[in-house]
Amino acid sequence: LVGSQQVDQEVPSVCPFCGVGCQITYKVRDNRIVGVDGRDGPANHGRLCVKGRFGFDYAHHPQRLTKPLIRRPGVSKDPNSLLLPGRARVGAGAGQEGAPAIGDVFREATWEEALDFAAGRLKALRGTHGPKSLAGFGSAKGTNEEAYLFQKLVRTGFGSNNVDHCTRLCHASSVAALLEGVGSGAVSNPVADVAQAELVIVIGSNPTANHPVAATWMKNAARQGTRIVLADPRITELGRHAWRTLQFKPDTDVALLNAMIHTLIEEGLADREFIAQRASNFEALKESVAGFAPEAMEAVCGVPAGRIREVARAFASAKSAMILWGMGVSQHVHGTDNARCLIALCTVAGQIGKPGSGLHPLRGQNNVQGASDAGLIPMMFPNYQRVGSPEAHAWFQDFWGARLDPQPGYTVVEILHQALAPDTDPHKVRGMYVMGENPAMSDPDLNHAREALAALEHLVVQDIFMTETAWLADVVLPATAWPEKTGTVTNTDRMVQLGRQAIDAPGDAKPDLWLIQQIAGRMGLNWHYEGGHAGVAAVYEEMRQAMHGAIAGISWQRLEREGSVTYPCLSEDDPGQPIVFTERFPTPDGRVRLVPAQLVAADERPDGEFPLVLITGRQLEHWHTGSMTRRSAVLDAIEPVATASVNGRELERLGLAAGQPVRLQSRRGELTCHLRRDDGTPDGAVFMPFAYSEAAANLLTNAALDPFGKIPEFKYCAVRISA
Ligand code: SF4
Repeated sequence: LVGSQQVDQEVPSVCPFCGVGCQITYKVRDNRIVGVDGRDGPANHGRLCVKGRFGFDYAHHPQRLTKPLIRRPGVSKDPNSLLLPGRARVGAGAGQEGAPAIGDVFREATWEEALDFAAGRLKALRGTHGPKSLAGFGSAKGTNEEAYLFQKLVRTGFGSNNVDHCTRLCHASSVAALLEGVGSGAVSNPVADVAQAELVIVIGSNPTANHPVAATWMKNAARQGTRIVLADPRITELGRHAWRTLQFKPDTDVALLNAMIHTLIEEGLADREFIAQRASNFEALKESVAGFAPEAMEAVCGVPAGRIREVARAFASAKSAMILWGMGVSQHVHGTDNARCLIALCTVAGQIGKPGSGLHPLRGQNNVQGASDAGLIPMMFPNYQRVGSPEAHAWFQDFWGARLDPQPGYTVVEILHQALAPDTDPHKVRGMYVMGENPAMSDPDLNHAREALAALEHLVVQDIFMTETAWLADVVLPATAWPEKTGTVTNTDRMVQLGRQAIDAPGDAKPDLWLIQQIAGRMGLNWHYEGGHAGVAAVYEEMRQAMHGAIAGISWQRLEREGSVTYPCLSEDDPGQPIVFTERFPTPDGRVRLVPAQLVAADERPDGEFPLVLITGRQLEHWHTGSMTRRSAVLDAIEPVATASVNGRELERLGLAAGQPVRLQSRRGELTCHLRRDDGTPDGAVFMPFAYSEAAANLLTNAALDPFGKIPEFKYCAVRISA
């Protein structure tokens, strides 16, 4: 249909959903997107998944915010009256029965009034209670420039490092382990390198749903003879293409991975030369895994010892082998330990630092890599310069011309925890600026998270829709959707890519970059970024200086010319380096530091009262909290209602039928959804996506944190199902 239509213009951009970073062309007619095509980008070569191809009409949805809004005086912030479970505000099942309308809660305001109010009260809280009373959540859905400027605002304007974003909820533990082990939080090899690999382990990931175009490269590789090993408690679609599947019990990653490392060492398959030249702490690792013989771990992880040994041998003996992982690895209280084991496995086998061999944490959001690189995290300045490092602190104080807090800030879950701290706590968080995130859906233990957001004395929300978080705001700033702005994003392969504005924003909605600068100016910062679209090129060039160790060679002009350049790229004639660690690791001694891991149990185990394990995640058609995809007609038509999946044996045991409405309960909350049969889900477990506001899976999840990455345990808590 779209192909036959006349279009006014075709605008090159990048898909706004996942970290694969597919390049797209927006087809525009009368200032509306009428279709999307895949471009021949390095990550997709013309391919797109259903989200990239059909998930564009959210930008034209009638529920777009077009006017600044200020909360009416005296209107309750009680989340229970605004965000009752069962009340869909978007999607095919949307019903507003009994729910307040926007006009009941907010009144429209002019931009001057809304911005003065937003910034004025933040400034007042800072004056009365100090810098640590404020915090900001930026977004991995925004551009690098927005992420950079947002963290600069919090650090130099709010005066603390209380700035974070959803990286905390996806790969914070992977990044903690990678920084500690190999000295860099990014991938060693691009996804496309699977074509060079003889063997690929995909663990804790469902790429067909979450990184669909990346999954096609894996399937192509399998067809060409690459042996795929899918290791996951859930056997998903990629399993059909796998040489072996390792369906380990939820929460037993360390047992399985240590058993593989044990096998390599015990059977003389460790790459002694690689270890001697490029690793440290091997003896401690060897001692630590001594008790993890596959025969001993079989009962723990549920994978037969022979299968563990077979896969370990194949991994070590392959000429090239990669490990790609997702949030099944990272979202545990032992997520950092899980990633430490993956680093150790690759290193002991000598499978890193060459084509087709290495470590690839599949980044979730389209720009979670870039937002983290740009410093949108509480313990790091841009380019992972530690806040606690006197040299980095002095450099950024000088660069930004501002006094900076030398203490790392609070992380996502900690910030909301601090919002409920007693009044006497000097670090109580009282005011927040949330740009493009939806913690009232994405955080664990939502009843607690929503209570915390409602308790804030001042909440500024900048977004394109009335998200669940926006309903709890004091002021709502209507912002621009991705096709309405120009900026860069960085994909899971470390490719910095340029997206160009295709359409105008609706009504009075404003560019996020402009809004950040308006808040900054009102908080006393004297910034001047000249140029179009709120000075995006000028912001990028400043960020390039702050990240000279990674992107010095990627100028704005080069991006306009080439569209996509991979970092590290240190000079204009540097083509960029898709494969890193070929000679040395960016650690102080140039070696991988091997860090042993022991078994740590999930924070909350099933019991007689709550006998099932809840695993949360995403599905192909819906993205994260659903604010965009549930407002995309095609995607919503394919997956209109919330479902929870269990296998056929579990259905029988429960005496329930697929399609039936059921109640899911945990110690923290409950919801109603429909049952779905999925025989890839393990016995004793239920899988649920977290995209549905009317059945928000995170009402059930546990906010227990990994102590290193501070990531919540989204992949494991105890629940029960009843009719
Ligand atoms: Fe977009 Fe990811 Fe799908 Fe590519 S694979 S089209 S980046 S959602």
